[in-house]
This record gives sequence, C-alpha cells and structure tokens, in this order.
Amino acid sequence: MQHLNESIESMKTISHWIDGKIAESTSGSTSPVFDPSAGEQTASVGLASVGEVDAAVAAAKAAFPEWRATSLSRRAEVMFRLRELIDANRKEVASLVTAEHGKVLSDALGEVARGLENVEFACGIPQLIKGDYSEQAAGGIDVYSIRQPLGVVAGITPFNFPAMVPMWMFANALACGNTFVLKPSEKDPSVSLYLAELLAQAGLPAGCFNVVQGDKVAVDRILDHDDVAAVSFVGSTPIAKYIYETGTANGKRVQALGGAKNHMLVLADADVDMAADAAVGAGYGSAGERCMAISVVLAADGIADELVARIAERIPSIKVGPGNEPDNEMGPLITAEHRDRVRGYVDQAPDEGATVVVDGRDGVPGEGYFLNPTLLDNVTPEMACYRDEIFGPVLSVVRVHGYQDGIDTINANPYANGTAIFTRDGGAARQFQFDVQVGMVGVNVPVPVPVSYYSFGGWKASLFGDTHMYGPEGVNFYTRGKVVTSRWPDPATSAVDLGFPETR
Ligand code: NAD
Repeated sequence: MQHLNESIESMKTISHWIDGKIAESTSGSTSPVFDPSAGEQTASVGLASVGEVDAAVAAAKAAFPEWRATSLSRRAEVMFRLRELIDANRKEVASLVTAEHGKVLSDALGEVARGLENVEFACGIPQLIKGDYSEQAAGGIDVYSIRQPLGVVAGITPFNFPAMVPMWMFANALACGNTFVLKPSEKDPSVSLYLAELLAQAGLPAGCFNVVQGDKVAVDRILDHDDVAAVSFVGSTPIAKYIYETGTANGKRVQALGGAKNHMLVLADADVDMAADAAVGAGYGSAGERCMAISVVLAADGIADELVARIAERIPSIKVGPGNEPDNEMGPLITAEHRDRVRGYVDQAPDEGATVVVDGRDGVPGEGYFLNPTLLDNVTPEMACYRDEIFGPVLSVVRVHGYQDGIDTINANPYANGTAIFTRDGGAARQFQFDVQVGMVGVNVPVPVPVSYYSFGGWKASLFGDTHMYGPEGVNFYTRGKVVTSRWPDPATSAVDLGFPETR
C-alpha cells in the first residue's frame, strides 16, 4: 500500500495550456487518469481553479483582436499547416487516445481521421464565410452581409472522443477568427495538450488556443464568465441540459449535444448478413462508448430469429483486449465504475424478462475494465436496459411487427441522435427518412456520422440549442451576421428626405 501511494505521488500531473505554453496546475486539486486496459492509474490531472480558468480566458481575450484582424488567407494557412502536422502525427495522437481512453489503436486512428476532416473543412474558410451582396437595393444603395467572429468561445468535451470532438469545435471556431478555451474530459486529458502543441507549430499565435483541465468548477466558471461569448458542449444529456440552461441564462450562445439511444430497424426483406455485420460493428465498436453506437436492434417479424442467431454467431470471434495490441478489435470501458454500471444492466435484464443470449460477463481478459460483447433478446421498452443509455458493449434486440411498429418505437424514445434502417425496399427507406424524428439517419449504414461538410446533431433530448455542430452550421454558430446598407455621396441621389427609407 505504501509502495502504491509513493508511486502515485511520483506520477506526473497533467497540466493546462495557457497563452501558448504549458501552465502547471496550481489549484492543488487533481483527478486520477487511468490506463483502462491495465486497470491502473498512470497520472493525475490538475483540476483548474476559477483563477486558472480566468487566466485562460484572459489570454484568449488578449489574443482576439489581432487574430480576428488576421487575413482569411493566413487563417486558412494555419489550418492547412495543422492538417499536415496532424496527418504526419496520426499515430502519436491515436496512441495518446488509446493510452487513456482504452479504445483499440485502429479505432483511435479512425477517430483522428474523422477529426482531421474538420480541419480540412476549415481550410476552406475564405469560401465558407462569404456574404451576400445586393447592388442597387434602392437608388444608389447597396446592401451586403458579412459574418464576424464572436470573440472568446469555449468547448467542453466528453471522454469518448478526446481528439475528434475538440476538432469538431476548434477548427471552425479558430478559422472564423475566434479564440478558444477547451475544457477536455478529465478522464483522458493528454491528447488536448498534444493538439495545442501542433496548433502552435502550425503558426497559431499564443493565446488563440488554450486548454484548461478541470471538472465542474472549471465548467461553471466558463458558464458565468462575462468574456466567454459562446459554449459548445458534447456529453451526457443531464449535463448538456444544464450547460444549455445555465449558459443561455448568462447570455451566451450555446450548442449542447447530449446522449443517445440509437435504434437500427431491420425489416424482413433486409440482407440478414449485412444487417448482422452492421449490428455487431456498430454495437460493439469502441466497446459501445460512442454516441452513434447502435444499442437497440428492432428486429421485424420474419427475420428476427435468424438475425439474432447471426449476430450471436459473430460475437465469439471479436477479439477483446488491450487497445495497444494490434489484433484486438474491442478494448475496455473507461473506468471500473462505468464497467460495473454497464454490467449491472446485464445482471438486471433477466429479472425484467429479457433473454441473455450472449453473456459478456464471462471470461473477461486481464485486470482492465473489460466487459465482453453482450446480446440481450426479447427486450421491451419499459426495461432499464432499453430506457437508459448504457454506453457499453450491450446490444438489445426488441422484436417488432414491421415498419410501423418499428417507427413508432423509435419516435417514442426521448433520445434522437442517430438511427438506421436495413431493407432492400427503397420505398420503405424513403418513407423512413420522411417519418423518423431523429437527427442523423442511415439507410443500410449503421453509424451515419455526417461527413465534415454536413453538420452533426441529434433532435429531442440529444441536442439542446438550435445549431448542429461542425460543417456549415458550425461556421454559423461561431459567427454573427451583420448587414450593411451603404451609399456613397452622389449628387444624382442626394436630397433631404424625412420619410422612412423605401426600396422601390
Ligand atoms: P459527461 O456529460 O459526464 O461529461 C462531459 C463533459 O462535462 C466533461 O468535460 C465533464 O468534465 C463535464 N462535466 C461532467 N459533469 C459535470 C457537471 N456536473 N457539471 C459541469 N460539467 C460536468 O459525459 P462523458 O461521460 O464524458 O461522455 C459520454 C456521454 O457523452 C454519453 O452520454 C454520450 O452519448 C455523450 N456524447 C454525445 C455525443 C453527441 O454528439 N451527441 C458525442 C459524444 C458523446
């Protein structure tokens, strides 16, 4: 025990990044960071005090006037350079993700690739931020619109995509001319510092991008700081709602993306192998810790028995183990506490009437926070495993009578992030897209995360605020519109007129 205490004391403390450099944590308050594959603490992260958040916001505020006045070409150039740097260091970024999050390296590389697409999108900022121009809106009068940055904007991000979700936010925010304060998840904080280094190497001036590690203290300071103009949040629904309500009450622009319960409706005419492959990949990829994971398969009469059998037969070949071993396909959960919570749903499921078809509590590897892929059948909407976002490798099969039963089930769910339909019937797929009350829809595509030139966001309890994240809506979120009505001295149009200006 004494040895353990000594080794924890000698562990590094992960710090902040303020005004272009590392800022050692001074609050005295820390939180443990684990290697979830080994089940061991590897570091501590400093949790920012109010004063440390204030220092980051002050640096961002001081950097704003010059960055906002920097030409569009130069801002784009920084994004192009960042793109090259992240591309050249994909493996380093991904390894940091794997070390603290636990997801397998191939999955972490996918996360980096999808994040990078947002930096690529932001390289097009001169084109993206163009306004409109109307010549001769009235005699000698022209009207045009411009979009201007907001000032200091903040991002608060979840543990499950420590590289990609920050890139969803800061790439567009910075390219639009804002300066940025990132508050990453305290569970996997290191990758944010690495990205800060790459931004500095890319030529971003000091102060434009800052990282404050922290918990609720830091978040609450961001939410009530007068110099923070907008907050982007991604995380669980209760916190998203809190962020939205508090931030907007304090006069900030807020987009807050919440949790999910994503359904995959499989109609009787679907390609059963394609659907089974998709359900396994989307259900157990990243150990189910994705907001776009499929957690419910709605299996229609006529295909349900076969589909359950095909999913079950695929599960034993999934390789579960530490994320840094190249053959593994699924890593551990983020913490022991979360693993126990997920396992609790499996413990409870038979009492509620569900059938445990594949039991992931058996044969888990090593000391890490592992739970093997689990398949539940005969789940019904009142069961806890259906109602709650489990956020683990547990796939629930709900049997439905056909299209209408399926769509009614999806639309009755309070979450509405992603969904998918599997069918060979184009008419049914088109009707699904029309009927379904969900923000992101896949047709024979189980994880329909929009590409970076569209925008990402759910409906209902999966999003608080009006604006989806990244893509064109991201550019809108990080800018405000201004419309200029202009005329130049011209004797032909100059006369005293006390009437209200008309356009015709
Ligand atoms: P979380 O809500 O616990 O934490 C998200 C962020 O909020 C973290 O930075 C955390 O430090 C902070 N936070 C936590 N508790 C807080 C509190 N009481 N007050 C203020 N701030 C607080 O989420 P998580 O566990 O890190 O991430 C998993 C959740 O995120 C899941 O619900 C998942 O569905 C969701 N998620 C949603 C999306 C999406 O796009 N909709 C994407 C990824 C993850």
